[in-house]
Amino acid sequence: MKRRKFIQNTILSGLGLSVATALTACADETKMTTITDETKAVSTGKPVIPMVIATWNVPNATKKAWEVLQAGKSALDAVEQGVMVEEADVNNQSVGKGGLPDRDGNVTLDACIMNKEGNYGAVVCIENIKHPISVARKVMEDTPHVLLAGNGAKQFAIESGFTPENLLTEASKKAWEEWKVKSEYKPVINVENHDTIGMLAIDKNGDISGACTTSGLSYKMQGRVGDSAIIGSGLFIDNEIGGATATGMGEEVLKTVGSFLIVELMRQGKSPQEACEEAVQRVVKKSPNYKDFQVGYIAVNKQGETGAYCIHEWFNYTTYQNDENKNHKADYYDKKK
Ligand code: ASP
Repeated sequence: MKRRKFIQNTILSGLGLSVATALTACADETKMTTITDETKAVSTGKPVIPMVIATWNVPNATKKAWEVLQAGKSALDAVEQGVMVEEADVNNQSVGKGGLPDRDGNVTLDACIMNKEGNYGAVVCIENIKHPISVARKVMEDTPHVLLAGNGAKQFAIESGFTPENLLTEASKKAWEEWKVKSEYKPVINVENHDTIGMLAIDKNGDISGACTTSGLSYKMQGRVGDSAIIGSGLFIDNEIGGATATGMGEEVLKTVGSFLIVELMRQGKSPQEACEEAVQRVVKKSPNYKDFQVGYIAVNKQGETGAYCIHEWFNYTTYQNDENKNHKADYYDKKK
């Protein structure tokens, strides 16, 4: 089986911590439906809603979300149920159950959700709960708060009826143990099929919602939280304009508030593609060491036009639109001159 991998080794020097993230682009080619040439904005000139777009090669997740939309449900239901497919997949070692742990062996998850009213709910550093996205939705809908962390988030989940379980699978435990032996808390190259799942959907009413869920950087410091569950960074939705979501080195996305930036650029008239490109350029401009990490964005506007862009080659994303579930390779910044 041929696999193409894109691996980035990253150093969080400011923290005195070295970690590695695998922003592996292409998963099993057998799993992919189609991988097209690098894509610019998908603009057909005709209505392209309902639709779903998600980071990485996640055809099962986009299919689920599409089915929810076809059943006449909301974009909010679609993104929640779509990303839950990946949270439950133990073979996906970057999201939900089976996620790679922090450097002390704890699987800690971050997730957030945003609806058409601009409401937001999130959990960070939650343990033992397989579907953090559903807890995030409950935070949004059932509490006066927007973000719960750690034990408080877990406690709230249990009170809301979620059953705690061990999320560290044998495969992820083994990977962590190997990392400890070989790397002695030094950088590790970690091979995954894909990373954080960010998903955006537009339902038949033209309303947009988004979800983002991750186990974050593997072997991170205990308590480390990235961009994925932070509003405006890992995800942002404005139902008047569109939405955006991110994957990659969370520290860099946070520093440039990437998803909010993309939505605001679309508000100013940029296409989703132009907005994603500018947000990536912002990261590159601010980080002289951009060659050492990956950041990838996807976006959609109110018309269902999409965009995607990343720093390094091999970030890819999946759309379910016009009855077609399709994987695309994103255009990228760091082209060899
Ligand atoms: N953005 C995620 C984080 O920094 C990681 C990833 O997408 O790989 O936690």
